[in-house]
Amino acid sequence: MVGMLAAMSTAPHPSSSQATAVSRDGGDACPGALRLHAADDGALARVRIPGGVLTVRQATSLGDAARRLGDGELHLTSRGNVQLRGLRPACGAELAGLLEPAGLLPSPAHERVRNVVASPLSGLDGHGVRDVRPWLTALDAALCASTAAVTLSGRFLFALDDGRGDVAALGADVTVRATAGGAALLTLGGAREALRVSGEDAPRAALLAAEVFLEISRASGSGAWRVDELPVPVAELTAAVERALTRAGVGCAPAARDTGEAEGPAPGPVGSALCVHAPFGRFTAGQWRELTRAAAAFPPGELRLTPWRGVVVPAPDAEPDRAASVLARLAAAGLVTDAGSPWPRVGACTGRPGCAPSRADVRADAARALTAVGRTPLPVYWSGCERRCGHPRGDHVDVVAAPGGGYRVTTAVRGRDPRGTLLDDPSGFAAALARTLP
Ligand code: SF4
Repeated sequence: MVGMLAAMSTAPHPSSSQATAVSRDGGDACPGALRLHAADDGALARVRIPGGVLTVRQATSLGDAARRLGDGELHLTSRGNVQLRGLRPACGAELAGLLEPAGLLPSPAHERVRNVVASPLSGLDGHGVRDVRPWLTALDAALCASTAAVTLSGRFLFALDDGRGDVAALGADVTVRATAGGAALLTLGGAREALRVSGEDAPRAALLAAEVFLEISRASGSGAWRVDELPVPVAELTAAVERALTRAGVGCAPAARDTGEAEGPAPGPVGSALCVHAPFGRFTAGQWRELTRAAAAFPPGELRLTPWRGVVVPAPDAEPDRAASVLARLAAAGLVTDAGSPWPRVGACTGRPGCAPSRADVRADAARALTAVGRTPLPVYWSGCERRCGHPRGDHVDVVAAPGGGYRVTTAVRGRDPRGTLLDDPSGFAAALARTLP
């Protein structure tokens, strides 16, 4: 790798295309399963679930951990990972003792860097051009075997897209997207240019790209955690990755990025799967138990957590009546199974009472304003402060609690000037939306 650095142009320089370049001289405090974060409602653990894929046994272990050590609930993140909240202080060893036997901690040193999203309906609904599961398995194994990867930030993200463009739209640091004909496009951050590699080489190429990122981050002195933070043009990073792949014997060639995008799964039956949405990504103990039971009813007994706060349950060969009765049970437990529900378009950060900086109980306010969401096709995201944790990328309605009370509502649509207004009370959300929508 040192040779690679000598061969490439590593002289760091500011770039206008890298407006978010930052210098990171503090440690990465991103929480993990072994590094708990102190929140206002107790300790918080974030368990990485590559591709969101859980066996029934793993899902049961997570539910046990939440019930025994935390507040009983499970919270999905915008990367399809699971957070446990309200944990007892110093329960880390006990938590590890529950997760490890279920295979949820395959490499403790890598537990915070296994951030991989994958198209959740891959292989289940006839869309996409390949099943990304073999890529997911291979990339996770390669990550856990890489000494260099241990130093990735807990925020660095890989996306494995089966060609439909759902997780490719999530702004990952390394995106691998399947193309018709068996190849794959490898893209770094928001680069316009991609590298075409064979489908077989795709997982190895993704890891190599991350290792090149680490080398450049170190050489630049920026300590960047994410590709778009590097003080180096992303085209230069892409060129360095191309050289590294070539040296490693991985064939690659420059190609245009595929910019087509698709939304995540809608609730209800989809192909050979049942899809549900959890408002704000929060599952009560009872809902999680019901979901685990549903997964156990169909081979292979699996759940796929989505980056859109939902869950896909593979249900191959399920008779329509059986699928309907399982979905009815999940709906009775309070999960969203109706494709017409506004819930999948509404998100909110943790807010009060779990997060100290929050100026409001944003989830309660978002729920009060739910019916007005039908007035816009855009996602609506509520935040308790300007950090906007977990907010969606792309066009959306941004609702942020204001310092003096109430909210600032802004419609952010690409190519248009943002339009904002003030909202005193969530009951006036429909009128506020009408003032900001294009
Ligand atoms: S956006 Fe602010 S209030 Fe919301 S979770 Fe993040 S830090 Fe807390």
